[in-house]
Amino acid sequence: MNPSFSSYLVNDVFGDPGVYVEIRWSKRALLFDLGHNDGLGPTRLLRANEIFVSHTHMDHFIGFDAVLRVALGRGKTLRLFGPPGLIDNVQGKLHGYTWNLVDGYPLTIEVQEFHQGKPRLAFFQASNGFQLAEQPVCPLIRKSHGHLFTVLEDPMFTINAVALNHRIPSFAYSLEEQFHINVNKQKLHEAGLPVGAWLKDVKQHIWQGRPDDFCFTATLYDEHRRQEREFVLGEMKERFLTISRGQKIAYVVDARYDEENEAKIVSLARGADVFYCESPYLDVDAEKARDRYHLTARQAGLMARQAQVRDLVVFHFSPRYTGQGEALEREAMEAFQGS
Ligand SMILES: [Zn+2]
Ligand SMILES: [Zn+2]
Repeated sequence: MNPSFSSYLVNDVFGDPGVYVEIRWSKRALLFDLGHNDGLGPTRLLRANEIFVSHTHMDHFIGFDAVLRVALGRGKTLRLFGPPGLIDNVQGKLHGYTWNLVDGYPLTIEVQEFHQGKPRLAFFQASNGFQLAEQPVCPLIRKSHGHLFTVLEDPMFTINAVALNHRIPSFAYSLEEQFHINVNKQKLHEAGLPVGAWLKDVKQHIWQGRPDDFCFTATLYDEHRRQEREFVLGEMKERFLTISRGQKIAYVVDARYDEENEAKIVSLARGADVFYCESPYLDVDAEKARDRYHLTARQAGLMARQAQVRDLVVFHFSPRYTGQGEALEREAMEAFQGS
């Protein structure tokens, strides 16, 4: 299987937390949290049009400026999602600069903050110096399932969130591909069809929910010979494609270990292919972790085990353990594997 999402930490395990997700077949990416992110470079920062913020403690939000800077002259809409207070925080950041020469700039920043699952939506446009404009949101379009609620529904994937207790709400997120499309190259070959860019278009038609009787013309290249061919989507699916369960990624940072958080985290991360979970402390310092509303490595491992995830990635290590990163990883993995 050729996975649709490729994800990785924005920084090293001791650096500011954040996960970057590249979506194959499109020049699109998703970003979880806005800590220091200069390492991503301008191309990848620009590609991340949808950004999901856990909370606005400095280590999760200082990178807003880097994104703003690369996006400023671009005709695009940057979308931010996060907990209550996010609109004020974005406005505060924008108020930190002078905007008298950007009236020709086409950038729009859209911010959605969620109050017990219900969104509040605001826009800031460069063309008017980033004045706040609010828009009422129709609450009916949002789904919630227990504590989990949907923050973004795309033809290809869904992003759900849950509010965790970090003495303030800290949002944890899951990204779930609706389904996965795999191309059977052997069968294509047997039918005398080449692989190539036309298959990306086929996938796009399916993500966009086109019906089975949808007809399209594809341009095929076989040894530099160009050929146009007609296909029916349903027939294409039946002969050459396998549609299977999609990928799931979960992202959890800055939360205390208590019964309620644990239940929320386990239900959010259930069955994830990759579970990114903070583990700033070793379990010997569990009391300190609790006082600071953070998790220990063992707690991260136990929850990963309970949620039956496939891979666990721990990060957001406290600087007090500099040089002991392996100990944190080992503790998490032992709890995860039940050894
Ligand atoms: Zn925090
Ligand atoms: Zn943090």
